[in-house]
Amino acid sequence: MELRELLAQITEERFHLTPEKCGNRQLYTALLALTQHLTEKRPAPAVARKLYYFSAEFLMGKLLDNNLLALGIHGQVKELLAKMGKDLSEVEDAEPEPSLGNGGLGRLAACFLDSIAALGLQGDGVGLNYHYGLFHQKFEGNKQVETPDPWMEDDSWLIPTGTVFTVPFGGFELKAVLRDIAIPSAYCDRANRLHLFDVEEPAQPPESGIDFDKTDIAHQITSFLYPDDSDEEGRLLRVYQQYFMVSAGAQLILKELEERGFAPDELAGHAVVQINDTHPSMVIPELIRLLMEKGLSMDEAIGQVERTCAYTNHTILAEALEKWPLAFIEKVAPQLTPIIKELDKRARKVSGNPAVAILDEDGLVHMAHMDIHYGYSVNGVAALHTEILKKAELKAFYALYPEKFNNKTNGVTLRRWLEACNPELTALIDGCIGADWRQQPEKLEGLLAYGNDGQVLGRLLAVKQAAKVRFCGQLEAAQGIALDPQSVFDVQIKRLHEYKRQQMNALYVIDKYLEIKAGQTPERPVTVIFGAKAAPAYVMAKHIIHLILCLQRLIENDPQVRPWLRVAMVENYNVTWAERLIPAADISEQISLASKEASGTGNMKLMANGAVTLGTLDGANVEIAELVGPENIFTFGAHSDRVIRLYDAKGGERYRALDYYHTPKVERLVDFLLSPELLAVGDPLALAALWRDIKGKDWFMALLDLEEYIAVKDQAVRQYAGREAWARKMLVNIAKAGYFSSDRTIRQYNEDIWHLS
Ligand SMILES: *Cc1c(COP(=O)(O)O)cnc(C)c1O
Repeated sequence: MELRELLAQITEERFHLTPEKCGNRQLYTALLALTQHLTEKRPAPAVARKLYYFSAEFLMGKLLDNNLLALGIHGQVKELLAKMGKDLSEVEDAEPEPSLGNGGLGRLAACFLDSIAALGLQGDGVGLNYHYGLFHQKFEGNKQVETPDPWMEDDSWLIPTGTVFTVPFGGFELKAVLRDIAIPSAYCDRANRLHLFDVEEPAQPPESGIDFDKTDIAHQITSFLYPDDSDEEGRLLRVYQQYFMVSAGAQLILKELEERGFAPDELAGHAVVQINDTHPSMVIPELIRLLMEKGLSMDEAIGQVERTCAYTNHTILAEALEKWPLAFIEKVAPQLTPIIKELDKRARKVSGNPAVAILDEDGLVHMAHMDIHYGYSVNGVAALHTEILKKAELKAFYALYPEKFNNKTNGVTLRRWLEACNPELTALIDGCIGADWRQQPEKLEGLLAYGNDGQVLGRLLAVKQAAKVRFCGQLEAAQGIALDPQSVFDVQIKRLHEYKRQQMNALYVIDKYLEIKAGQTPERPVTVIFGAKAAPAYVMAKHIIHLILCLQRLIENDPQVRPWLRVAMVENYNVTWAERLIPAADISEQISLASKEASGTGNMKLMANGAVTLGTLDGANVEIAELVGPENIFTFGAHSDRVIRLYDAKGGERYRALDYYHTPKVERLVDFLLSPELLAVGDPLALAALWRDIKGKDWFMALLDLEEYIAVKDQAVRQYAGREAWARKMLVNIAKAGYFSSDRTIRQYNEDIWHLS
């Protein structure tokens, strides 16, 4: 049936209307149904070994646009709607964004599912179906306020499967109901799945805010992603969530193994489990337990599991490497404790070093240690990150198992992060080098031939300008802030964390503010754009948001400064905002303290859209710098080796914030937090707490790099004025972004770790 007829049939059945008579909301649900119908017919790829990608989060973003592209009908649908006087992008505005993730980790998982399907590999995601997400962010009184972020509707991408597993907790059981989201392949007639487990009777959203009864496991287990873990009930709830996910997921793996005609002792030959960060680590003892229930001996079960599981490390921040009290596991899943103790005993035979034990003397289970001992692969997510794991964080493990360690530099799907979010740039690229780069992203390098083509460079600038104008319209509609699209768009969008150093960027704003007040204007007007959510219990991160919002307010009210400097913080930064903002960015802020950002993926998306990176040599920025060359990136800051030394208690050079505070310039910028101007718009207690922290502690060393950061950023703003030279930098960045396609990353996972086909 033709698309037109199919659509008409759906709108007739559902609304007794022709498509022409439907509103955008109705058209969205009709297109959702149409897409689901076309995807349904697609079989899963058939290969010998099947991948299960376990992740606590999948930050999918809206799916209609993406799925229409994957099905190859995006253009047709757009045209069809246009003929009816409808605009596909307005229809897409009606789609709620699934709130199943929070930041880079979850977005990586979503990019990977897209690439696994695109490459025709058989691999499904496994996770939880959160009802209210992390939270929805609002700004009130220059502060972040959290509310639930519901996204499920009667018509949604979730497909009921009829599959239900029983998860045995200590003292009670819960049914895990499986619903799937289809992941159609962009290049072959196949589809994979994201498997999401949920309870039978989920709770209603909280009356106000995001507080709920954390002991009501049976109804609340899938309410929120990362419930507040500042108290014991919250921490226990996280363990309940994790076990719910991995027990149901492990049961699914064994059920599918049986359906495919294989015995339990053939698991490793036919399944791979990729453990995305430590949240799903209990899948290891759970699979061992289930295999033993099926008749395998402990030795056989462990033998299968250690050839099935592989672990991805995402962080070297000590506080993020999960350690759960064994007593929690004893309460949540008592059947796992004897297995974990046995795994610890065996690991202690491999090495007597207590630093690599699974169970420590405080009774804590080190989840990453279990993953490394009982997984066959351990990978970092950027070259520098993997080197730091081998040389420092996981050195003792690297000495034990050098063969397990490997690097897989992250990537992003250019289908969403270039083709879908920036059709104008895509058209310009296609016009220059053809369309082959979609399947062979390294072909983007063909753009380098246009480095001296004034016409192409001019069109590149025009595409960027149009994206900036469009973004200004979107921001004004959402938040009533009207920005100047002629100014330099300096963009820092990522979760709020002290190591990412949004506070350092805020100090830059203060520096420019004071300069303009003193009559010294920048080369070009600058707009500093932030987007960031702070974890609800992370007090210092919330203080930083408060500072940024206060600066925004202060400058909005100041007619002397406003023409030259603006600050805008996007409310509820999510994938949808990222897709609007990234095409509009001129400068990509990647200013984490060297050694702290494992990879970053925002840096890759921004580069692919022609933003020039201003960054430290951290995470994948190192690889970006190597690829684009020094003239096409702005780098600054202390080297990761030096930073690691500065943290070393034994080293003579330990970091003291006060040493860096006491320079004439830095002191003035930091003390501005307590200036009458800022106190007039802000909360004195919050500003003072932040001031005290930066001056006295500054754990992530913003003051160490501050002066060099400001100098290099000034230089970037000056260079922006040379439009053609700047356009050449943009072009080189786009041309070199092919390496950061997640298709490349997934090919490497498959060749080195998964061996699916
Ligand atoms: C890509 C992305 C991130 C990750 O950004 P980083 O700069 O790598 O931390 C976070 N949130 C959203 C919505 C994203 O799209």
